[in-house]
Amino acid sequence: MTTTPALSMTDQLIQDEHDFIVQTYKRPPFVLVHGEGATLFDTNGKPYQDWVAGIAVNALGYNDSRLTHAMQVAASGLIHTSNLYYTAPQVELAKMLVEKSFADRVFFSNSGAEANEGAVKFSRKVQYEKGLKDKTEIVCFSGAFHGRTMGAVALTPKEKYQQPFHPLMPGAVVAEYNNLESAAAHIGSRTAAVIVEPVQGEGGVNVATPEFLRGLRHLCDQHGAVLIFDEVQCGLGRTGKLWAHEWSGVTPDIMTLAKPLAGGLPIGAILMTEAVASAMHPGEHGTTFGGGAMVTAVAHHVVERISEPEFLAHVSEVGDYLIERLSELNSPLIKEVRGKGLMVALELVTDVSPVIEQGYEHGLLMVNAGTNVIRFVPPLIIEKSHVDTLVDRLTTIFAAL
Ligand SMILES: *Cc1c(COP(=O)(O)O)cnc(C)c1O
Repeated sequence: MTTTPALSMTDQLIQDEHDFIVQTYKRPPFVLVHGEGATLFDTNGKPYQDWVAGIAVNALGYNDSRLTHAMQVAASGLIHTSNLYYTAPQVELAKMLVEKSFADRVFFSNSGAEANEGAVKFSRKVQYEKGLKDKTEIVCFSGAFHGRTMGAVALTPKEKYQQPFHPLMPGAVVAEYNNLESAAAHIGSRTAAVIVEPVQGEGGVNVATPEFLRGLRHLCDQHGAVLIFDEVQCGLGRTGKLWAHEWSGVTPDIMTLAKPLAGGLPIGAILMTEAVASAMHPGEHGTTFGGGAMVTAVAHHVVERISEPEFLAHVSEVGDYLIERLSELNSPLIKEVRGKGLMVALELVTDVSPVIEQGYEHGLLMVNAGTNVIRFVPPLIIEKSHVDTLVDRLTTIFAAL
């Protein structure tokens, strides 16, 4: 009789993941169990410095006592009532977001993709209300990432994400990022809206120039198109200002938010001017879960914390230090360091996967943005000492490659 040795609980869990979960993610071979500050721990108690933050989500890090308290208080109140009824937390969060932004009104969704879907619908409705029923095109840009749903993925020009899923939403038009001539050639009388990330995340951490955003504002005004800023990743303090577009002085007509908004709970938001909002009437858009009482109460706490001037100054200071220290790394594999605040790219001349895999060995969590870019989007509470540790470990990793 042969016996197979019992798997450890960790190995069993990994095996079950392979057996029961749709295999759309390739995960590293450890299981995370808890976190503290900017550090995560696996089932063996091994610590990992977290430069991912759940993909730019966990702005306040792990086990933050004030966030936990806000969640506990919110959890003992109403969780969900649907949007059929008034609840205080939703209204209070909307009011706070309006007071801190260009916007006049807010619609809450459950994710970034859904916020962008809503932004597309609202933009088309703006044109429809004006009687411009053929003004339906949405201009997006090379390298953009707006989400995985059928509308948002149509605005995400990447073959792997689009090719197998045709037909996508019609009316998507692609121009070149940071190229105003290209934008001008694609924006016209049929353009309902232009959607752009002030700093591209997935596309490789590319920062839009202020001239580019100013030019888009001008083109949209000229052609009566709605300007949408997708700040799902770059917004809410990530770049060292509350909104990434503040660096350019340009304001959009619509801004979409999501990732860090509720401290790790799922939420999205569409912020807009009165001119956009007034095109929408009862029954024309909706969501069962969006803007639920619990999640918006938690988001209120997160936005309050993130928008403190000292908090934003910390992001800028540590972000600048991160760029400075990464620039000192000396390897023929490194092509460029770039970014804004705590949204930073280390671009290599090769595939970054071996560096990310070696990172796991050395207790670093890192994520790519495309093939050649390591993207650093850590908890915004990360300190300079974490940067020093990162650079020490990367020095070792690059020396061995
Ligand atoms: C992550 C992301 C999205 C999609 O958000 P989901 O919550 O994953 O749907 C959209 N836009 C940008 C810029 C993103 O980074």
